[in-house]
Amino acid sequence: MPKVELHLHLDGAFTLDFLFDLIQKYDGDPEIKSIADLRNRFIFTDFPHFVETWFWKNRFFREPIDFEESVYRTLKELSFQNIVYLEAFFSPWDYKESGVVSTNIVQANLNAVKRAEKDFNIRCRLIVDITRDHGHEHAIDRLNEITPFLGEEIIGIGLGGSEQKYQTHMFEDVFDEAKRRGFHCVAHAGEVMGPKSIWSAIKDLKVERIGHGVRAIEDPELVEYLRIEQIPLEICVVSNIKTGIYSGFTDHPFAELFSKGLLLTVNSDDPTMFGTTLADEYSILYHELNLSMLEIRNVQINAVESSFAPQGEKKKIKEMMNRFWIDNAMSITND
Ligand SMILES: [Zn+2]
Repeated sequence: MPKVELHLHLDGAFTLDFLFDLIQKYDGDPEIKSIADLRNRFIFTDFPHFVETWFWKNRFFREPIDFEESVYRTLKELSFQNIVYLEAFFSPWDYKESGVVSTNIVQANLNAVKRAEKDFNIRCRLIVDITRDHGHEHAIDRLNEITPFLGEEIIGIGLGGSEQKYQTHMFEDVFDEAKRRGFHCVAHAGEVMGPKSIWSAIKDLKVERIGHGVRAIEDPELVEYLRIEQIPLEICVVSNIKTGIYSGFTDHPFAELFSKGLLLTVNSDDPTMFGTTLADEYSILYHELNLSMLEIRNVQINAVESSFAPQGEKKKIKEMMNRFWIDNAMSITND
């Protein structure tokens, strides 16, 4: 099924093969003797362990070419899943320890995106995550740093990180300025923190989409607002379970939010870190959350409509999706 992904962090989507090669390139790690060891390294005991592992793997990205090759190989893998279009986050300020200049990381990712489009026919636009955890004082500097790159590939800013420590409203002026400069604006909200953070992303940051947003379910007034305004939510089911927001599929509110008429998309977040893929996420919607094939198709189309692609590109992707469903009409009726 042709797919569109709107919430994937390139920093958490490297391929295990490539990271293994990087570890060897930089003198190895005595605990990592095989890909299997590496896979086991990404089984987390708790959220601090996840963060610790995140920075451990960042230590092996030491030159711009490491970033370019990593993103190129990631996009190649994503194209094998028939992801035809994605809007991917990256945060070039998370590699201080490696000493790579952030603007060189931006350029490396841009090179990878262009090479991958040519070689694998996958269109990737980029959203730079200015990251809450580095504080508001750096946020405007970061916006200034990436503004010269704003264009065909770099299209927006995002806000990930600790919602509880660095509250959403703190970044209002940065988002106002980003919007004025022509960036699309999105923010993670309503993942660790509840509805208040989502309200703030909408009212203070005036975002166009909400990353996660699942905890909107705790506020009926917010659910109604999201329904009326049709503000897209980028939901990442496996991520929410792996980080402990919900204990399992039965607790997850995707199906309930969907039945209430909200504009939902499904995404993989940090696919390598969480051991998921976008194909897996769709499979979960069908097999675990009991969405019908018709509903799956609506989620698939929601992703196209909620993307920042120009209308002409959206039309082409929807035509591709329609062809898929026409070709597979028999399997839909059988379901
Ligand atoms: Zn995310």
